[in-house]
This record gives sequence, C-alpha cells and structure tokens, in this order.
Amino acid sequence: MQFKAFEPGVEVNAPTVAAVIAGMGYFTKISRRALSEVGIGTVVDDKLVLDMHAWYSQEAWLKAFETIARQVGNSALFNIGMSIPVNAEFPAGAVDVTTAVRSIDIAYHINHRKNGRLLYDAETGVMHEGIGHYGCEPVSGKNEILCVCKNPYPCSFDRGIIKAMAQRFAPDAQVMHDDDAECREEGADSCTYRVYW
Ligand SMILES: [Zn+2]
Repeated sequence: MQFKAFEPGVEVNAPTVAAVIAGMGYFTKISRRALSEVGIGTVVDDKLVLDMHAWYSQEAWLKAFETIARQVGNSALFNIGMSIPVNAEFPAGAVDVTTAVRSIDIAYHINHRKNGRLLYDAETGVMHEGIGHYGCEPVSGKNEILCVCKNPYPCSFDRGIIKAMAQRFAPDAQVMHDDDAECREEGADSCTYRVYW
C-alpha cells in the first residue's frame, strides 16, 4: 500500500527528502508544513532547513509525503519523480537503459537504512531487505523492461523516476503503467510498469 512502511526501524537520508522537496517547485509551502509537522527539518525564516547528514524515520517521511501527495495530485507526483534522478544520489556506471533502470533499486537501498545499517553496501554489493524493491526484468529480444515496484512510495512518483532514468539513454523512452496488474493506489503492495524505447 502506498505510504505504509513495510517494516519498522527504517530511515531515509536527508538528501533524498531534499530531492523530493527540490522537485516540488511551487508546492514547497505545502511540503514545508507537512514535513515540519512530522519532525523532519526545522522552519527558519519561512524556509525548511534540513541537516543534510541526518536520517529520518521512513514512517514519518511517508506520512508527510502522503499529505503532500494528497494536495498536489498525481501529475505533480509524476513530475517530482522525474526530477529525482537529477536531484538525488544515484550510483555511477549505468551505460544503457537497462543498467540505468536497474540502478534505481541500488539508489533506493543506498538512501535508506534499517536499524542503523545501510541497506546497500557499495563495497561488497550486498543488498539487505526491508523496504521492497524497484524491479527490472528485461524482455528478451525487445527494447522493453518489465518493472515491478513493490515499495511504499506512490504509483505516479515511481513512474516518473523510471521514465527519467530510462530517458537518460533513450530520450524517447516511454513508461506505461500496466493497468491489468495490481496497483498501490488501490491498496496493493506493488505496481507494474513497462518501459519501451
Ligand atoms: Zn500503480
């Protein structure tokens, strides 16, 4: 389900929160209130100040994100998602659409931790569970990828992230939501997207 953490004890880092805020453009007033209400950041002179070294409760973050999402709507969420790869830390090394889309799950785990432990160890390449995934299954013989996103972030936001990453290597790439599969907007745990280029 959107905005419900899969497990307790998960935290998100401040640069990820900042990346979402940066993608919000004129919605910043809404985000400022929603975030400060759950104890993320402090308001100084009408600006939300984040300690960029801080980690915040994912449950609090999702609560604020839900408030923001309800007010801005799905097309704004999609645009915020599109801006995430520009504003957040992603691993280097993507060389094509598939590796770019695959790197989303790594970035997701780099930017969250559980019980104080990072969910991705860049040195060993070991990934730990607790927050779900951004799937990436290339379809054999086609310029197509199936992405099953089983994570607590909203449907339209994730479609934006995937599209922005795919378009780094294929500017005309399209990402379609598979309406025949389950959808987090309807209370499911995952959404399925098809990337074409
Ligand atoms: Zn969906």
